[in-house]
Amino acid sequence: MPTEPETNYDPSLGSKFIFVTGGVMSGLGKGITAASTGRLLKNAGFDVTAVKIDPYLNVDAGTMNPYQHGEVYVLEDGGEVDLDLGNYERFLDEEMTSEHNITTGKTYQHVIEKERAGDYLGKTVQIIPHITDDIKRRIREAAEGTDVCIVEVGGTVGDIEGMPYLEALRQFAHEEPEENVLFVHVTLVPYSKNGEQKTKPTQHSVKEVRSIGLQPDVIVGRCEDKLEPSTKEKIALFCDIPTDAVFSNPDVEDVYHVPLMVEEEGLDQYVLEHFGLAEEALPEGERANEWRDVVTTEKDGEVDVALVGKYDLEDAYMSIRESLKHAGFELGVDVNVHWVAADEMADHHTERLQESDAVIVPGGFGMRGTEGKIEAVRYARENDVPFLGLCLGFQMAVVEYARNALGLEGAHSAEMDEDTPHPVIDILPEQYEVENMGGTMRLGEHTTVIEPETLAYELYGDTSCSERHRHRYEVNPEYFEHFEDEPLVFSGTAGNRMEILELEDHPYFLGTQFHPEYKSRPGRPSPPFLGLIEAVLAGERDEIEYDEEVTH
Ligand code: GLN
Repeated sequence: MPTEPETNYDPSLGSKFIFVTGGVMSGLGKGITAASTGRLLKNAGFDVTAVKIDPYLNVDAGTMNPYQHGEVYVLEDGGEVDLDLGNYERFLDEEMTSEHNITTGKTYQHVIEKERAGDYLGKTVQIIPHITDDIKRRIREAAEGTDVCIVEVGGTVGDIEGMPYLEALRQFAHEEPEENVLFVHVTLVPYSKNGEQKTKPTQHSVKEVRSIGLQPDVIVGRCEDKLEPSTKEKIALFCDIPTDAVFSNPDVEDVYHVPLMVEEEGLDQYVLEHFGLAEEALPEGERANEWRDVVTTEKDGEVDVALVGKYDLEDAYMSIRESLKHAGFELGVDVNVHWVAADEMADHHTERLQESDAVIVPGGFGMRGTEGKIEAVRYARENDVPFLGLCLGFQMAVVEYARNALGLEGAHSAEMDEDTPHPVIDILPEQYEVENMGGTMRLGEHTTVIEPETLAYELYGDTSCSERHRHRYEVNPEYFEHFEDEPLVFSGTAGNRMEILELEDHPYFLGTQFHPEYKSRPGRPSPPFLGLIEAVLAGERDEIEYDEEVTH
């Protein structure tokens, strides 16, 4: 039986749609441009949501290697999605669901299930109309109840895999009143050797878009600098759009400044006018301004954090880096993240860690680098260095403590060592029978009960917190008694599950079985990250006071 209901969508209900495609090459940051535009529309008083289309055959990002695709972002409903959804959540401060990440895997799976159920009544089931209809339905459902829905198509126009989506968007636009849809094409404007902005790649890419039957309404040129007026004119002429529909997307120091840049270029105003929403928008003086205030906070000082992980790729730990930035905004400091390769820790870990003010051991899967992660925990615990362990990092903190403080020799997680004499971390009971890898972990939002008068309570300011999860293993209940009357306490629990650990008599030693990084936002930093940076700054203050005492 088909699992998802079909809807009778009525275009007069009136969401507006911004379709964003990319040309020339991927990785131009079209998602950030789109999310930034969305942020400004939200500031102007509209309900904005976003959909990310990933034309790959995976059903979701859950089984994908972070090395190739960056981190798997986890949503409130447990959806394991593309990291662009993380950017949309952070920029729009709206919660998305799994339905906001459309993949070829999801679409085909649904259509084939319907075919097997006999729902197509003997028809030949085809990409057009059946797959394209399903894509359109998904976009409309995700947009329901909002004023504006941004739909970003992953990859580059011309990719074979993206074709059914572009065809679906073409049909979609045909079915909607013209003023309800805006096509934005983001391309690259490189410099020639003699410093000239070159429009030829843009022209070729727009030609490709038009051959599919789409005409961009707006072109955004990614360039090191702003586009010169003559470049804009050339693009307008060759791509058949007004010059004021060509916008620059120059390099900026921080992605959070992109909305400020988009506003300066006037893209948001252009969008509002196209949709006939300019009159309804809040007058400029009344628009929300917190974003600007937060992201332009004056910075005074720097904090260096060592991230002891498996991948040296910025995108693999994107939400952690962003969470640290959010904490930095709040506290007025720049937070520099230094990657330390967990599997090479044995050689040079102490130097690398000693150069840092704090240590984070992030989430992860599999054996590689675990001994290095355990060493990093030990270093932080023994040297009073502020520490945050996230998911696997929490589990490694339990293992480290079991081995080195409780004397449970050979203690480990059953994930890493099936034959460990002390499986202090063991598989979740409900996972015994699970065979499939995709979408089967303990996922999404769960509530943690927090013990009063603990660090966790101080951080969250509440007796509970709600955070997102993604794990198969947990603290083994058979070992709870070993931790009784120890300075390591489990200050957050969910029934019989240990969710937060902390160490008494340490400046800051916190581990969470959940991933607080997915709910951190600019202006609303995640408490465990804020606490980590605060602890570093408090330590520095102590040192200064101490110095003063000495000199006086
Ligand atoms: N591999 C560990 C588990 O499955 C931790 C998962 C994670 O860090 N996301 O429980």
